[in-house]
Amino acid sequence: MTAFSLDPAQTAWRAELRGWAEQRLRPLAEKGEPGHVNRALVVELGRLGLLDRLFSSGALDLCLMRESLAYACTEAETALALQGLGAHPVYAHGTGAQRDRWLPGVRSGTTVAAFALTEPDAGSDAAALTLTAEPDPADGWRLTGEKCWISNAPEADFYTVFARTTPGSGARGVTAFLVPADRPGLTGSPLDMLSPHAIGTLGFDSVPVTADDVIGEPDRGFRVAMSTLNLFRPSVGAFAVGMAQAALDATLAHTAGRDAFGGKLKDLQAVSHQVAEMALRTEAARLMVYAAAAAYDEGAPDVPRRAAMAKLLATETAQYVVDAAVQLHGARALRRGHLLEHLYREVRAPRIYEGASEVQRGIIAKELYATVEAP
Ligand SMILES: Cc1cc2nc3c(=O)[nH]c(=O)nc-3n(C[C@H](O)[C@H](O)[C@H](O)COP(=O)(O)OP(=O)(O)OC[C@H]3O[C@@H](n4cnc5c(N)ncnc54)[C@H](O)[C@@H]3O)c2cc1C
Repeated sequence: MTAFSLDPAQTAWRAELRGWAEQRLRPLAEKGEPGHVNRALVVELGRLGLLDRLFSSGALDLCLMRESLAYACTEAETALALQGLGAHPVYAHGTGAQRDRWLPGVRSGTTVAAFALTEPDAGSDAAALTLTAEPDPADGWRLTGEKCWISNAPEADFYTVFARTTPGSGARGVTAFLVPADRPGLTGSPLDMLSPHAIGTLGFDSVPVTADDVIGEPDRGFRVAMSTLNLFRPSVGAFAVGMAQAALDATLAHTAGRDAFGGKLKDLQAVSHQVAEMALRTEAARLMVYAAAAAYDEGAPDVPRRAAMAKLLATETAQYVVDAAVQLHGARALRRGHLLEHLYREVRAPRIYEGASEVQRGIIAKELYATVEAP
């Protein structure tokens, strides 16, 4: 495939995924409890083989999965993405023993993973994190501190936790640990958010970890976090594109059928041109997401810039498209339970997490100036 068109097999795969999302995942999502991990949904993602593909295929495939699931079932999309975000560090940087112990359950959906980087005083500035890993005279370290806004917390089965092993050394003194949920001293509580997925805080009160729990190398954990985010960033864009497409298609159907002023809404040029603008921006975002994912899969040197651009453009576009879709639907879009009411709530957070839009602009600018010499 080129960055600009999918081959027939990929197009068919996207259609198959949308079908599964509608027929097999949507009914399970509807039975879930908002704000809690929907384990039946995660197991079904495993049964369909989608969790396995998180590790066996590349960034573009991840984008196709996220976009297609988001189109018909955002809950399934988010559950898939969180399994990937939480477990990818173990897959890519973990020891053989860690992988053997945890990844089979992640792949089947019976083990739920989470990625714990953010803290109350370290969000966008993640390198400022202070959760302390203090050497334990007996063995390993003791973790003390707090994490917040952690998706799947406190219900996950294990956490990829980023902690400070060397004080005062910024990004260079952070270590990634695999912390099983049943470690003594680990607690957590749920947070009630606008978007319905499970999310919460984690408290660490002298939680014991050993060298066997280190993911990668001590003091090199920030790299583990950043390489995971480089892979997942374009796919956050794909999630956004899936939501934008769902909003666009709903708007096409609505404006084609709604009677107004002696014709249909679509006969008003102001309406049809707005829909054209929504389609234009959605397609531009989709192409940038696919191109960034393809660049990741090829090992291109400019992945950070392209991943940042794709995430930024797609999440901002989806916000615009969903908002315009609400406008063109009128009051019915704001009724609780309407697809657009749901998307309006879902579309907001991706502009903040995995690097807020402003942070993406910072990355893009840094990459642009990296090779420029002042005259
Ligand atoms: C639904 C949801 C799920 C999440 N899931 C997880 C998870 O699973 N794991 C995890 O570790 N974290 C998670 N997070 C946390 C998320 O990563 C942080 O919210 C994010 O990094 C921003 O941090 P903050 O909220 O503390 O905002 P702050 O860092 O306080 O930033 C606030 C605002 O300041 C501005 N700003 C910040 N930095 C800059 C800059 N450099 N230049 C210009 N403006 C700037 C931006 O407008 C930004 O939105 C989640 C958040 C949400 C909303």
